[in-house]
Amino acid sequence: MFASAPHQVEPRPTCFSCFRPQTHCICWLITPFAAHCNILILQHPHERKKYYSTAKLVVKALTNSRLMRGLEFEPGELEKALLGQKAFMLFPSALAQDCEEVALDSDSTVIVIDGTWSEAGKIVTRNPILRSLPYLTFRQTLRSNYRIRKQPKDSYLSTIESIGHMLKINALAAARGTERIPCDPAIYDRLFEGFDQMIEQQLRYFPRMGGNYRKRPGTKVSNATSLTSDAKP
Ligand SMILES: [Zn+2]
Repeated sequence: MFASAPHQVEPRPTCFSCFRPQTHCICWLITPFAAHCNILILQHPHERKKYYSTAKLVVKALTNSRLMRGLEFEPGELEKALLGQKAFMLFPSALAQDCEEVALDSDSTVIVIDGTWSEAGKIVTRNPILRSLPYLTFRQTLRSNYRIRKQPKDSYLSTIESIGHMLKINALAAARGTERIPCDPAIYDRLFEGFDQMIEQQLRYFPRMGGNYRKRPGTKVSNATSLTSDAKP
């Protein structure tokens, strides 16, 4: 007597860990592990509902990563999150150091902003503590594999690619130098592999998002950390 009417559509089962349909769950894509430094993602509120955000995947994958969402954080909120940490911003700046030039360890936190260039600029502007931190960037040219959310330039990276490259480049540099090797740099390939699987999964369900995707004005400039961007702190 209380059965659903025939015309009613049953809601798709949802994974309550990643909040995606169970058919599109990303939880299994990467076996969680700890990075050799901590990651703090500051996510612009507009990113929250974007289906293809890779920040979720980072937080699922790296046990010592966390995400704070907002545009202007409460006074002291970021300071509290960074208490006792050597903090860095992964963001382009004329004064930024290459990410292979710094020593990162479990007492370090690298902040990454998840948003468009415009959104990222607003977060930096409205939170003065972010402008007081040392900046990290990439000197080498890196290519994005983000085929479902076309980036305006190949050098613009998704959040997970930015974090993966930063961690791997830093770990490789430490392994080449005299510093203690923080971890096997190859562990970070798991991030790229998980990202590739996420894309393959999406392309299976939405094949038209693949190679013929055309760039539209205003396309998201997601999470870029390339020096080629105009966005500057
Ligand atoms: Zn899930």
